[in-house]
Amino acid sequence: MKKNISIIGAGISGLSAARFLAKTADVVVLEQAEKIGGLVKCDLVSGNLFHKVGGHVFNAKNKAVSEWFWAQFDQEKEFIKAKRNAKILINQKLIGYPIENYLGEFDKETVQNVLADLLKIQNTAPKAPFAYNHFEAFLEGTFGETLYKLYFKPYNQKIWNTDLSLVALEWLEGKLPMPNIQDILLSNIVKEEESDMVHASFYYPKTGGSQFIANRLAQGINIITDQWVSSISLQNGQLLLNASGTADAVIYTGDVRKLSQLIQIEDAALQHALQAVEELKSNGTSNLFCECDDNDLSWLYIPEDFTRAHRIIYTGNFSPANNAGSTRKTCVVEFSGKVPLQEMEEEINKLPGNLRPLQANYEPNSYVVQEKDTRQKITNLKQQLQKHHIYLTGRFAEWEYYNMDKAIEASMILSKNILTP
Ligand SMILES: Cc1cc2nc3c(=O)[nH]c(=O)nc-3n(C[C@H](O)[C@H](O)[C@H](O)COP(=O)(O)OP(=O)(O)OC[C@H]3O[C@@H](n4cnc5c(N)ncnc54)[C@H](O)[C@@H]3O)c2cc1C
Repeated sequence: MKKNISIIGAGISGLSAARFLAKTADVVVLEQAEKIGGLVKCDLVSGNLFHKVGGHVFNAKNKAVSEWFWAQFDQEKEFIKAKRNAKILINQKLIGYPIENYLGEFDKETVQNVLADLLKIQNTAPKAPFAYNHFEAFLEGTFGETLYKLYFKPYNQKIWNTDLSLVALEWLEGKLPMPNIQDILLSNIVKEEESDMVHASFYYPKTGGSQFIANRLAQGINIITDQWVSSISLQNGQLLLNASGTADAVIYTGDVRKLSQLIQIEDAALQHALQAVEELKSNGTSNLFCECDDNDLSWLYIPEDFTRAHRIIYTGNFSPANNAGSTRKTCVVEFSGKVPLQEMEEEINKLPGNLRPLQANYEPNSYVVQEKDTRQKITNLKQQLQKHHIYLTGRFAEWEYYNMDKAIEASMILSKNILTP
């Protein structure tokens, strides 16, 4: 008998889990929105393609994920491969990214200060990245006070909108460079292409943006949209969803903080574990979809506080098809939190590129904030849920800073575990 599995959420996590499981189980995906894709959804605005959140590009370091992903797509015919051309706007000047590799682009005094910081760090026994207690200590301890104040502190505070000393370090693994001083000096003297960083090069669909990825993963999968799952209970040894559909197992990819409202199972330890995650913190993002002057950038980071915007994503440079409705290029200006449209429209006048707004979007749940005990709370909850054949996977279900590749990897591992007798 095939297992009957219900997956809640048709984002990248739910769709990839469905694909992994569909051959060996009866799978249905229930999605509350009318359109699939979750965070990677895209819309056409005046004929131009915009990502509702961010500007999703794809890359995978994990071999199994990469092989699986490229078995779903024709890499050459359907994707463009691009190299990152990111810059940081400081003092009206575009500085190379990552900042520590482009010290020569600063004035002499700044370079002297950065070098003095690095030598001081070197002489006071540098710590291994994960030896720091929190994110703030890691940034200052790794890059020194000058770079911390110029870029790392203001940029990260804009994005995280939280006290950086409360942010745990674990989420950083594989996300940010963790160079030692020799690496930094070498990169400044010998200009090598850095390839280790996330999205140093990336793939992007020729048409359709990340919606194209979601749509392909959805092919052949039984998906019901406009279907909000509001309750999960037990009935005759099976799981009952919305008092109608039954399942042997449920995979939840939505916001873990809301799970306590869904689960109606009398189990004190489970209820306790559900309550423990209700207060996890996240940040939303406001996006202003714009037209802009021609340029060759992929991302522009804006740490300084002359504007509330923290990043411009030049999605029009990812694929020419994204600018189909315009004679100019297109881009997205990202703000942390909920920013009124009029304020965003005023803010973009302070930014380069003669930006012209077309439309805006607000996503309340973009960045998960990982605190010291977050992983432990999620691990506890997973153990309690597993007793009832309920599983978590995904960025907001596991409260992990997953990119698409990591979300796919997590779904891959979970699917194997569920199918293992
Ligand atoms: C600003 C930003 C930029 C990013 N850029 C990149 C990038 O360039 N490259 C990259 O690889 N990754 C990027 N990411 C990460 C990427 O978006 C995520 O890894 C991925 O989309 C997570 O997918 P998910 O399925 O886990 O979650 P989601 O996309 O949130 O999917 C969850 C789905 O569950 C549905 N749902 C929730 N609750 C219920 C319910 N009760 N009933 C029914 N349905 C429900 C939701 O509607 C949603 O569709 C970025 C993220 C952000 C925020």
